[in-house]
Amino acid sequence: MSIGYRFAVMSGIFLILFSPACTTTRSESAPIVVKRTQMQMGTLVTITSVAPDRRRAQDAASAGFQEIHRLEELISTWIATSELSRANAAAGRDAVSLSRDTMKVLEASLQIARMTEGGFNILVGPAVEAWSVLDRPTIPSDAVLQAVRPLTDLRELHLNVAEGTVYLAKPGMRVDVGGIGKGFAADMAVAAMQKAGATAGVVALSGDIRTFGGLPGGMKFPFGIRHPRHEEAVLAFIDLQDEAISTAGDYERYFERDGVRYHHILDPITLQPARDCQSVTVVARDGMTADGLDTGIFVMGRERGLALVERLPGVGAVIVDRDGKVWVSSYLKGRVRMNDGIE
Ligand code: ADP
Ligand code: MG
Repeated sequence: MSIGYRFAVMSGIFLILFSPACTTTRSESAPIVVKRTQMQMGTLVTITSVAPDRRRAQDAASAGFQEIHRLEELISTWIATSELSRANAAAGRDAVSLSRDTMKVLEASLQIARMTEGGFNILVGPAVEAWSVLDRPTIPSDAVLQAVRPLTDLRELHLNVAEGTVYLAKPGMRVDVGGIGKGFAADMAVAAMQKAGATAGVVALSGDIRTFGGLPGGMKFPFGIRHPRHEEAVLAFIDLQDEAISTAGDYERYFERDGVRYHHILDPITLQPARDCQSVTVVARDGMTADGLDTGIFVMGRERGLALVERLPGVGAVIVDRDGKVWVSSYLKGRVRMNDGIE
C-alpha cells in the first residue's frame, strides 16, 4: 500500500496521516481505514478507525464519538446539567453524587496534582476567569487574584470515593477538568472502539491524542509536534503505538500586552500565567496521564518537570523552555526526530 503523507493541522500535535486513497483501494484481506471528524467538547475530534471491514471500522468510529458525547454530558462545565456543573452549583452547600467515570477523572486529577507538586490544579477556574484570557483579555489586579485564591485550595475539595460524592467546601469554588478531561475522553473512546471491533486507531481531541495498535503494513502512527513559535511548522516527529500524546502550549490562547505574553495555563501559586515553558509535550500509556501531566509540567517548569518525568515509567516529554531550547527526556531519546528545517 502506498502511504502519502499529509499534514492535518491541529493544535499541539500534527497527525501525519496516510492519504485517504488507501481507505478505498484494498485487497480482500487488507484492513479498512476510516477517518471522521466531529465537533465535540468544544473542539475538533478526529477518529481514525482500522478494522477488518468497512462496517466494523465505521461502527467503531461511531462508538468512539458516542462515548465522548456521553462523557461530555458528565464532565463538561459548559453543560449546566453535567455532574461537575451540579457539583459546582452546590459549592459550600451540598455534596453531590458522581458516576464512576466522573469520580475517576477527579481522582486522577488529585493524583496528578500531587505528582506535579500542585502545578496541576482543577480548582484554578475562578482565577482563569479573572484573567478572561479566553474572551476579553484582562490583567487582573492583585486584589482580584487574592480574592479568588481561597477558592483554589485543593484541600477544600472533598472526594468521598466510598460514597461516590464530591463536596466543594466554599461557595464560588469550581472544578474545571479542561486540563485533563480530553485525555480521559480519548482513553474511553479507544476502549469503546476496541469493543466495537476496531483493531487499531487514533482518537484525537485537538492536541490530546490516544492511539492503539498500528497502521496496515505494520507502521506505527506518525505524529508531528508543533513548533511553539512557528505556526504550522513541525518541531519534531515521533511514532506512537499503544500510547497517548498531549501538548500544553502558551501559543493557543493568549494575548500580548507591552511585549508580555499572557496565556491560559496558570501557575496555581502565583495565579499568573506559568512562565518557564513555551510548550510541553507528554507521551504516556494513557491519555489522562499525558493530558494532566502536560499542563502540570508546564507549570512546574523545565527542570522540575523533567526530573518528574525521569521518575515515571512509560512517560516521556519534549519540553521547549522559555528561551526556545528543546529538552527531550531519556524515554524519548532516539524516538524523537528533530525537524532540521526549523531553527
Ligand atoms: P488545552 O488542550 O485546552 O490547551 P491544556 O491541557 O493545555 O488544555 O489545559 C488548559 C486548560 O486547563 C485551561 O483552559 C484551563 O481551563 C485549565 N487550567 C489552566 N491552568 C491550569 C492548571 N494549573 N491546572 C489545571 N488546569 C489548568
Ligand atoms: Mg493538559
